[in-house]
Amino acid sequence: MLTIGCHLSTSKGFLAMGQTALSIGANTFAFFTRNPRGGSAKAIDAADAAALRDLMAANGFGTLVAHAPYTLNPCSDKEHAREFARECMADDLVRMEAVPGNYYNFHPGSHVKQGAEKGIELISGLLNEVLRPEQTTTVLLETMAGKGTEVGRTIEELAAIIERVELSDHLGVCLDTCHVHDGGYDIVGDLDGVLAEFDRVVGIDRLRAVHVNDSKNPRGAHKDRHEKIGEGFIGIEAFARIVRHPQLRDLPFILETPNDLPGYAAEIALLRGLAE
Ligand code: FE
Ligand code: FE
Ligand code: ZN
Repeated sequence: MLTIGCHLSTSKGFLAMGQTALSIGANTFAFFTRNPRGGSAKAIDAADAAALRDLMAANGFGTLVAHAPYTLNPCSDKEHAREFARECMADDLVRMEAVPGNYYNFHPGSHVKQGAEKGIELISGLLNEVLRPEQTTTVLLETMAGKGTEVGRTIEELAAIIERVELSDHLGVCLDTCHVHDGGYDIVGDLDGVLAEFDRVVGIDRLRAVHVNDSKNPRGAHKDRHEKIGEGFIGIEAFARIVRHPQLRDLPFILETPNDLPGYAAEIALLRGLAE
């Protein structure tokens, strides 16, 4: 059975997210670890986290895919911004232990005008400071569309970051279908080829989650504008191949499409149907 869900609001706590997930046919979900714009985080309610863990176990949930605030920039050219990213991620990784053994996804960041090489050095440096041997959370680098000066638009850039991290056992990659398509990879016409390249450069065992989004723009546009499944340039046939692919089908799939909850429920049912 496909492990699939969508982004959910944390406003009513952990258990409420699990209940909402069940109500839309999901068996995983994503959530922001704090305000997506990066403010301070609410204190963790241990009983609420325990109630979610019970609900997940009772209902056969797969791995959750938490998302760091998207304004964090681990490779900013400003020290205070990098310091903020470091503090947020270190704190988030402590907080993630309330729901042990899940994923924490983040955007590698934008190098501004420093160049990708400097960006890679700053991102791997930050990961070397925040990762802890005892953590149970796997940190995922998200593949990016290459908008502006984003780092992570190529598989090689992600590999270069991972190679420089000491505790790289705690690292993986989250493949965002809209982002790789916008980044220029032909997941519509040559999914096998893209995955073979990923395997060669990063290693397929690093691939831990999929953000499943259609794109409002043609391949290589470097725009990053998500579209509903089947309504964009990736298209429904490509999503059928994606959810059935032997190297992808057992991973958690997270929808980040422009939808409300009924829209997500419909997309979950659609993708479950395509996976069969
Ligand atoms: Fe993201
Ligand atoms: Fe994404
Ligand atoms: Zn995106």
